[in-house]
Amino acid sequence: MNTCAMPGKKMNEEAPCILACPLRQDARDYVQLIARGRFSEAFQLVRERNPLPAACGRICTHPCETKCRRNSTDAPIAIAWLKRFLGDNFSEEPRRTVAERYPEKIAIIGAGPAGLTAANDLALLGYSCTIFESNSTPGGMLRMGVPTYRLPRVSIDNDVDIIKKLGVDIQYNTTFGVDVTFDSLKKEGFSVVFLGVGLLESRTLNIEGVELNGVLKGVSFLNEVNTKGNARIGKNVLVIGGGAVAMDCARTALRLKPDRVSVACLESRKEMPTTDFEIEEAIHEGTVVYNSVGPKRIVGKDGKVTGLETLKVKYVFDEQKRFNPAFHEGSESIIEADTIILAIGQASNLSFLRGQEGIQVTRGGTIIANPTTFSASVHGVYAGGDIVLGRGTMTESMAQGKKAAIAIHNALRNTFLKDEKWADKPAVSDVAASKIGLIKKEQKQEMPTMSLDKRLSNFNEVELGFSLNVAVREAQRCMNCGAGAQVDDNLCVGCLTCVRVCPFEVPKIAKGDTTAYIDGDCQSCGLCVVECPAKAISFKTPLEDCGKDALEAVFEEKFVQGIKPFIINFYCQYSAYKEDKESATDNLLFFHVRRVGVLGLGKVEPSSYLRAFELGAHGVLVTACKDDTCHFCKDQEWVEKRVNYTAQLLRGLGMDSRRFQTHFVSSQNGKEILDIAFRMVDELRNL
Ligand code: SF4
Ligand code: SF4
Repeated sequence: MNTCAMPGKKMNEEAPCILACPLRQDARDYVQLIARGRFSEAFQLVRERNPLPAACGRICTHPCETKCRRNSTDAPIAIAWLKRFLGDNFSEEPRRTVAERYPEKIAIIGAGPAGLTAANDLALLGYSCTIFESNSTPGGMLRMGVPTYRLPRVSIDNDVDIIKKLGVDIQYNTTFGVDVTFDSLKKEGFSVVFLGVGLLESRTLNIEGVELNGVLKGVSFLNEVNTKGNARIGKNVLVIGGGAVAMDCARTALRLKPDRVSVACLESRKEMPTTDFEIEEAIHEGTVVYNSVGPKRIVGKDGKVTGLETLKVKYVFDEQKRFNPAFHEGSESIIEADTIILAIGQASNLSFLRGQEGIQVTRGGTIIANPTTFSASVHGVYAGGDIVLGRGTMTESMAQGKKAAIAIHNALRNTFLKDEKWADKPAVSDVAASKIGLIKKEQKQEMPTMSLDKRLSNFNEVELGFSLNVAVREAQRCMNCGAGAQVDDNLCVGCLTCVRVCPFEVPKIAKGDTTAYIDGDCQSCGLCVVECPAKAISFKTPLEDCGKDALEAVFEEKFVQGIKPFIINFYCQYSAYKEDKESATDNLLFFHVRRVGVLGLGKVEPSSYLRAFELGAHGVLVTACKDDTCHFCKDQEWVEKRVNYTAQLLRGLGMDSRRFQTHFVSSQNGKEILDIAFRMVDELRNL
């Protein structure tokens, strides 16, 4: 479609949830696929960009949700939990196939997020990859650092199994610098080495008392509990730090049954560098949080910790927004503790490079790599992930693995392959204040969790995951930002029909302009698409075809033409997943009826109903939603208008009115629909 760029007409805007993701995961599109009940396609879409969906859906810090435009109206879409739903319930292998196999062998050091992602993408590009991992299992810091109550190991294993099916070999218990070196790998025929190791150490504090007995390092503590199921702690545990690792340490310590667990951090509650959900869960489980206090010294007696002397924080970030904490003089106080866990950040351990000549590192202990080519200072060696960033979230490390895979391929093939997903695009702006009241508020689905009395006696997963119906309902809250309706300037005649029909007051014709413009506040109800007399409006996304593809697909099914009578049921998907029981539409498939689901029947054109007859249907049954329950506004009114017009056309053609029926129902599933459908089958039999 040739939509011209007029002043004020912003083109190519992308959904902010997609732009916020370090991986540029297609959040909107997989959410929209879930909303339509197209789960396998949704999983495939996730998996094409993200080789660790089950793990990522659990522990990603989800910047996509922070930027979700639904924040303006009620609450963000639970994008990460929806990804987890897919990762837990689907396991199709990637649909991208390897076009060409290349002779080069690639060695990847570390089976953490960066290494696994690089291996996955290089395997899909056609390279033979071997990961060398010092541990006996995959996951790197996911396995060492993340507690099992947040990330069951089977979720990592399931994700890694799909990567292995691409031909990626993982050699466990193989430490780089000890069992293999740059030289030995070269002799074994590896052309490229990618260093993707994590930050394996905890940062320490430069204060009096850190050497006392009872001071533990966060990462070592978590690793010990994660691998052995236990660690030695006292009765009164204090964690220093306010991030995700600090919350993990506190919640892990609680499961070892001390009398008290507390957290002390520099940041105020609002500034704490982790998700609200993690903080709330830690508090819910019994953690006491001391905000805005800084560690002055660790106090002790007879070589053992007895507490932490703290100072009140004036500010954490200075005027230039740099981390530069300042404290109130004379505000000392003591928090008693017999165990102190340092969880103030992670650091590298570069001992694996000992004896390996030429790799340049920073004073901060990170490997120096070119940010575009990912090449380190030794020919044929590349590096990415936490060991280069010096910090990192899971998705940032994975993004490095993805970018490095393309960079390695470009270097080996002397080519310029580009991943267009990383192209710069403007984000769809926040929902205009004037529209907020017009958009229906829909409650965010909550994650079901294990009850408190069952949690603290084990390390079983606390978050229990969305059921199918809950996942669909949550996905159906998504506003499809950046993929709504668009006007073709070459066809628009400026008749103002779209301006009149839009319940959300979105289309406009700017002063001095002759064609309409639809901005990012479009809710994808489709009313203007159907009503536009010039047929100048369409949806930007091929996902929204108003049921046309699904209708055609029905008649590609074998045997359909032999079924008599054969009925097409157009139904609204918004109320097909209302009940909590797993009553998805599949349960309603029966011999004489095939269902065509659409998100809002207001977007079904009369021509689609007629097309069903043209393709061979004996009857068309429209089941629309009753009352004012529609996700969009006044959908019932528009459905009535379109079915009445269709019925009139069919009458004109001499068709019996029993062959085109519309019923307004309270649910799109269950007995009510079955009764209507069976009744219609009987009526058509008797025609
Ligand atoms: S409403 Fe949907 S498309 Fe819009 S930002 Fe949120 S998840 Fe993305
Ligand atoms: S699709 Fe619906 S919400 Fe979007 S501009 Fe058209 S009428 Fe308005």
